[in-house]
Amino acid sequence: MSASNVAGSFNVAKFGGTSVANFEAMSRCAAIIENNPNTKLVVSSACSGVTNLLVELANGVQDQGRRQELMNQLTDIHHEILDQLAEPMSVEKEIHTILDNVASAAEAASFQSSAKLTDHLVACGELMSTHLFAQILRERGVSAVRFDIRDVLRTNDAYGKAEPQLEQISQLAQEKLIPLCQEHVVVTQGFIGADDEGNTTTLGRGGSDYSAALIAESVLAAGLEIWTDVPGIYTTDPRIAPKASPIPEISFSEASEMANFGAKILHPSTLVPALRHQIPVFVGSSKEPEKGGTWIRQQVESSPLFRALALRCNQTMVTLRSANMFHAYGFLAKVFEILAKHKISVDLITTSEISVSLTLDQTDTSGGAPELPEVVRKELEELCTVEVEHNLCLVALIGNNMSESKGYAKQVFSTLEDFNLRMICYGASPHNLCFLVHESVSRSAIQKLHQELFEQE
Ligand code: ADP
Ligand code: ASP
Ligand code: MG
Repeated sequence: MSASNVAGSFNVAKFGGTSVANFEAMSRCAAIIENNPNTKLVVSSACSGVTNLLVELANGVQDQGRRQELMNQLTDIHHEILDQLAEPMSVEKEIHTILDNVASAAEAASFQSSAKLTDHLVACGELMSTHLFAQILRERGVSAVRFDIRDVLRTNDAYGKAEPQLEQISQLAQEKLIPLCQEHVVVTQGFIGADDEGNTTTLGRGGSDYSAALIAESVLAAGLEIWTDVPGIYTTDPRIAPKASPIPEISFSEASEMANFGAKILHPSTLVPALRHQIPVFVGSSKEPEKGGTWIRQQVESSPLFRALALRCNQTMVTLRSANMFHAYGFLAKVFEILAKHKISVDLITTSEISVSLTLDQTDTSGGAPELPEVVRKELEELCTVEVEHNLCLVALIGNNMSESKGYAKQVFSTLEDFNLRMICYGASPHNLCFLVHESVSRSAIQKLHQELFEQE
């Protein structure tokens, strides 16, 4: 970003799906915006549940009855809000046009789905919610305008997991977004962007957090607020461990580790742009804003040994075995050459004398566990045996100075002595220890560890 850029000096506030689920929830978000005159840019997700419905349609629903059922659900969600507006006419036409667009794209997907068509379809959730959100704000007396972020958020054409083009985003934001924010509260879409040809793209499921951070970076925002359904980042997902407690302040590196290891509260890439421009991030609940939340900052007062536990399911583990690996060189290089050639991104790895296990990375819009493509499997099988396992979850313990602390690994492993732990990664990072467990026991592994490490006096 060039030094001549004009700083926004205002806040960007992102509201997630449950925060904009219906009229009442959107109105609560509107009150949060009104309470902070510094909030000039609002990034919204689709209404809760909408993206899931759109993904199902995009995957291709042949049964016309089922397709109609999904369309009815989408219509009902948006009509619930429309019907409570003082002036529904002002946005009704726009919502109906988008719903018609969804219906025809869903029909096309039932013949042949594609990643490009999926993005075109799933983007409609955010395109609708922002019309409604902006109108709610206007009806409360706020000078709000809806902005189509596809005019700014330029990405490559990797549909379903598009990569942002930072220089272009920054330039377009300076031209189109900042001047608008001087006059109005701007309501725009998370999750979506457009490639150079103007085709709609998405940043992957949960991508609105990442969008908000990219937009905050592009306008050099003073702060980024992530409003969700929990009052901040907790020691673990409170839905799994009800005794999890909120963390008032956490460093960028700890929070990034949490996001990377699957704590759903933040999309994994969210903190990258915020960290690049040192934009402080706040996470709070739009339902209970008075409860405060978590501040994510560069410098924090405490750096405890154990900070949090994260869980990421849908892991695919690939084990490659070759007797030729014994005292040989070049085997791993060949394996990674094949993976790199096919753009397969690897997450964790552990090795032994004759085998290597790795997990596959993937967070594209279609969801589900990543697959090892058949062509890649065939190429690998020319080198070694290939075993693929599903139904695994990654458990990560996140903390500080872990590699310099004695005895904690014993505490972790003795707490989980009845569990079958796979692919233990320990010592590579001072900030985490992680391993895989079978999906069926993953929640109890988190609960046991949380009890032992976070619930004792
Ligand atoms: P949004 O729709 O606002 O983006 P998400 O559902 O994506 O919200 O993320 C919020 C959810 O993240 C919470 O409801 C909670 O279940 C889950 N979560 C996972 N890990 C944590 C954590 N460490 N702290 C708080 N919430 C967490
Ligand atoms: N609506 C998208 C999803 O459900 C993006 C988001 O909410 O962050 O994945
Ligand atoms: Mg989310």
